[in-house]
Amino acid sequence: MKLVDYYKDSESRLINDCVRCGACVTGCRAVAFSGKDIDPVATQNEIIDFLRGESELGMAGRFKFKSCTRCYGCLDLPCPIGLNPMLIVELIARKTQLAKEHPWGMPLYPVHAALAEERSSAAEYGRISELSLKPGSGLVFFPGCNVYKQPDKLLNALDIMDAIGKDYSFLPGLAYCCGASVRGNSGDADWLQGSAEKLFGLAEELGAKKMVFWCHTCLSVLHNQVRHFYRPPFECLSFSAYVAGNLDALEFPAARPCRVAFHVPCKSGYMGLDTESPRKVLRAIPGTELVEMEHEGRNTLCCGGRATDSMPDLAGGLAAARLAEAKASGAQILVDLCHNCHEFLLAAARSRPEAAPGLAVENFSCYVARAMGRGREDSLAG
Ligand code: SF4
Ligand code: SF4
Repeated sequence: MKLVDYYKDSESRLINDCVRCGACVTGCRAVAFSGKDIDPVATQNEIIDFLRGESELGMAGRFKFKSCTRCYGCLDLPCPIGLNPMLIVELIARKTQLAKEHPWGMPLYPVHAALAEERSSAAEYGRISELSLKPGSGLVFFPGCNVYKQPDKLLNALDIMDAIGKDYSFLPGLAYCCGASVRGNSGDADWLQGSAEKLFGLAEELGAKKMVFWCHTCLSVLHNQVRHFYRPPFECLSFSAYVAGNLDALEFPAARPCRVAFHVPCKSGYMGLDTESPRKVLRAIPGTELVEMEHEGRNTLCCGGRATDSMPDLAGGLAAARLAEAKASGAQILVDLCHNCHEFLLAAARSRPEAAPGLAVENFSCYVARAMGRGREDSLAG
């Protein structure tokens, strides 16, 4: 099936069959966290009128759209017509974009390469930007695009992959895309599908048996969108799952005692993907004591990052709540897995120091590489 047809079919079902129960509004994690008293049925009416082209999106509909952090927290909501509630936000984004004169004219990676180059040495930049093919290895590593803004995380991940010692092909993230770049996320279904087919097509050509993803958004897109037109004939797993499966190849001579809490990326937590493997790795590091926060796994809290531009107060409130939970757990370090969570949690820790005084925020790749004696400075430090 073409993804664009899936979007069109879903839009038609929403417009024609929605019974306006409002469950997709009341069940939204961001709306619930905002404490706003919005009428779910009126909100849904506004959204459907907008999708029908009968009116602009009203205030409640705009709130629902702008507050969405794409956390995937509504995928399991029981919609009476069997729609994926997150799709509603995707359809609003697509319609909004299609109304523009040049809907898909945005730059794909406006700052990624420049920041990667600025924040790494020439040799390091070559390492993360060049295609490296090992067809016989059966193993492919794909970093996604956004981590290029924090190249230290990707370089740490590659150091850990190399320490594990198995050959792998490296497909650079600014040359290949899972489809969820700004363009795919804005609703350009054909572009999303073409990008994903190119990426997975190369992995198939290389004879992949396992494809390791650094980025949890890439993995989520595979589970939520790509599956409508493509099912990989090989295992797709996260970087932390790969590390957890190869712990016997790693040593941690520089480990030191520390109490840590772990923040799972919202998408992975809400989809029940990969919440244990990072914990397994952290527990294997001598001296690391893992403590649990109030919200974990399928009940986790989103860092709020995706809503930073559209709803800064809501986003900042979500991040501060997460930091306060980590502090209350007794942790000295909040370890995050996703580079985006890391950026937003770090920014919140700086701008709202009262939320969690003395709590440090560190990325999983940095924490593990440092314990191995190979860590490099966080590019967001200072
Ligand atoms: S993805 Fe998250 S924020 Fe967006 S509608 Fe679903 S629950 Fe709400
Ligand atoms: S949960 Fe389904 S039926 Fe209910 S308002 Fe949302 S889309 Fe319509």
